[in-house]
Amino acid sequence: MVCEVLVEIKAKNIDKTFTYHIPDSLCNDISIGKRVLVPFGNRKIEGFVLNILEYMELNYPLKNVVEVIDNEPVLNSELLELGKFISKKTLCNLINCYQVMLPTALKARKGLEVPKKYKIYLKLNGEKEDIIKNIKNDKQLEIINILSEKEVEKKVCTDISVSSVKTLLDHKYIIEEKKEVYRIDEEEQLETKRNILTEEQDNAIKKITSAFYTFKPFLLHGVTGSGKTEVYMNIIEKVLNDKKEALVLVPEISLTPQFVANFKKRFGNKIAILHSGLSDGEKYDEWRKIVRKEVSIVIGARSAVFAPLTNLGIIIVDEEHSATYKQENNPRYNALDVCLYRAKRYNIPVIFGSATPSIESYTRAKENIYELIELKHRVFTTLPKVKLVDMKDEIRKGNKILCEELIDKLNHCLISNKQAIILLNRRGFSTVLTCGSCGYTMKCPYCDIPLTFHKSTNSMRCHYCGYISKKLEACPECKSKELSYLGMGTEKLQEWIDKNISGAKTIRMDVDTTSRKGSLNKIIDSFKKKEFNILIGTQMISKGLDFSDVTLVGVVSGDASLNIPDFRSAERTFALLNQVAGRAGRGTEPGEVIIQGFNIEHYSIVCASKHDYKTFYNEEMSIRKKLKYPPYCNICLLRLSGKSQEELFNEANKIVKYLNTISKIIVLGPSNANVPKINNIYYVNVIIKYKKITDIIEQIKFLKQKYLTNNKLNLDIDFNPNQI
Ligand code: ADP
Ligand code: ZN
Ligand code: ZN
Repeated sequence: MVCEVLVEIKAKNIDKTFTYHIPDSLCNDISIGKRVLVPFGNRKIEGFVLNILEYMELNYPLKNVVEVIDNEPVLNSELLELGKFISKKTLCNLINCYQVMLPTALKARKGLEVPKKYKIYLKLNGEKEDIIKNIKNDKQLEIINILSEKEVEKKVCTDISVSSVKTLLDHKYIIEEKKEVYRIDEEEQLETKRNILTEEQDNAIKKITSAFYTFKPFLLHGVTGSGKTEVYMNIIEKVLNDKKEALVLVPEISLTPQFVANFKKRFGNKIAILHSGLSDGEKYDEWRKIVRKEVSIVIGARSAVFAPLTNLGIIIVDEEHSATYKQENNPRYNALDVCLYRAKRYNIPVIFGSATPSIESYTRAKENIYELIELKHRVFTTLPKVKLVDMKDEIRKGNKILCEELIDKLNHCLISNKQAIILLNRRGFSTVLTCGSCGYTMKCPYCDIPLTFHKSTNSMRCHYCGYISKKLEACPECKSKELSYLGMGTEKLQEWIDKNISGAKTIRMDVDTTSRKGSLNKIIDSFKKKEFNILIGTQMISKGLDFSDVTLVGVVSGDASLNIPDFRSAERTFALLNQVAGRAGRGTEPGEVIIQGFNIEHYSIVCASKHDYKTFYNEEMSIRKKLKYPPYCNICLLRLSGKSQEELFNEANKIVKYLNTISKIIVLGPSNANVPKINNIYYVNVIIKYKKITDIIEQIKFLKQKYLTNNKLNLDIDFNPNQI
């Protein structure tokens, strides 16, 4: 017998299978989807078996498969197909698609082994009555009594008495047993009390459950606090009753601990949670729980879409507008596409939920490709009142940081023992360091982007490549000591509030304060317990947080994200403001929101302040139509990168010329990427606007092939990118 094996050879960018002979000794073990060890050149490498054939006529001798690695296939038939689908959609090598679907421990790469974890248990060695006759002291008796009920972990007994355990073991009255265990295995306290559903929730659930066992995408457009999570959980309960499984995607697990906690309270240990914060061992354990059918719900971020569930009944994507569902490196897949693909295969409904659906998804709902379900009301209160404040006027009055009204409201909020959240979507202390006498600005030597000053570490940092430099004492150009820090980040805002708002107990949540494992949960818990009364943070605080005592939300520089040169910046601004405003007034008391900025007349800000998605959608669509942006067309981004900017432009011009021979498309560029240089590598964009993929696919494949072997520059292809 022979088999075809797909291998990964990084340096060579090879994307094809190789054929090997299967020695008789391995014939029983081998099967499609398992990993095998095969000789390649003078090395041995791992690969996936994609096909097994009885016989193949060849005019050269085949090498032998060396070893079959897995007892069970790591790629089942669905995942094998799914990889091919993604490879076709993204033009990414098939091997990379399979690798991205699997947890590290199961990828076909040598040297990745996850140690098994064991715990030692104790049990009686014989009948209790016989053993007790020989027992001399109370502690030993206590241990024997516990073990006569059931075997327990050794630690339980050594906590009673180490020496007694030793004596009992020495006399062989008890024995040890080693068991393989999961790294994460918490018992959850189940909550049995159920909320009475609102009418809107009840309707949504009825509509979706009546579509069980048919492929049907729903767009669940529910305002913040309308109880979407409750809808999801009720539907999942029904799915589990039918002995089916559920897949739930969230933008980022670490940012949605309250969402996960709600699920754990409802479903206990029927859930596997997949996310990037887990160790390789933990990820492997969660994966095995799914394969062994020990769980029936999987919650996770983007890559959880590949969870090896085989009996799906529902797929749910929360915050479907989130940019995190699109992978930014190869394979550049969109998890929403994968959800639709899997839902179709299982013939089941898929729910895309959001308070601010993406323009593309809402358009699909308008075109009846998705069925729209709306939750227009909050469960408890009404949506918060939002006030816009023009900072141009405030600066004239001398208020540079916070406007008068926000200061007043903050004082009032703290006096009445309530809590506030303040968003400033920029971390660090100040944004640029400039010289007062010659105008010198300190930039990253590798990226040409201004460095951000971080006061807590007294350093200057590049937020793109991570470059760190010591704080300057004098200007390197003119030696002047008159250096000023312009702009403001969360660190500076916190310092200002601490100094100027009496009674403020602030806590900050951004990349800098949450990098350590568990630190984010600590911040959330302590704020929930009201150890602090003001939470200051970047966009991290806008997602999914549910604090019932927060009555005030302030937004500093609410218009900052409009300055990002990207066709989605208005959509992102609307979503961010809507989400963060939604953190106010989630309990029984109504909330208030103040958004300050310099460009507050912009339709994205005005519509967000009125919670008016539909007007925003219509405005945005008219602009997209005029400028020919999605959903009026699709975008393919060709990104060239390399060390010589001149060479990149030369090649990019050739590409543009080649593409211009195609009719029915628009080609833009070449132009520098938004961040033209990162870590001394330059990036140049060519953008294609097209209607049908068939119009360009052959040409794009040709370009991919052409630059595959070029070792001076690299061509990345991104269909419908997050940002251009
Ligand atoms: P969303 O995700 O739509 O912003 P959540 O699902 O977080 O809203 O719900 C907001 C709050 O309302 C949560 O604290 C939730 O527990 C509560 N909630 C949801 N549905 C109900 C209900 N029917 N009755 C009482 N409380 C509810
Ligand atoms: Zn200077
Ligand atoms: Zn840099």
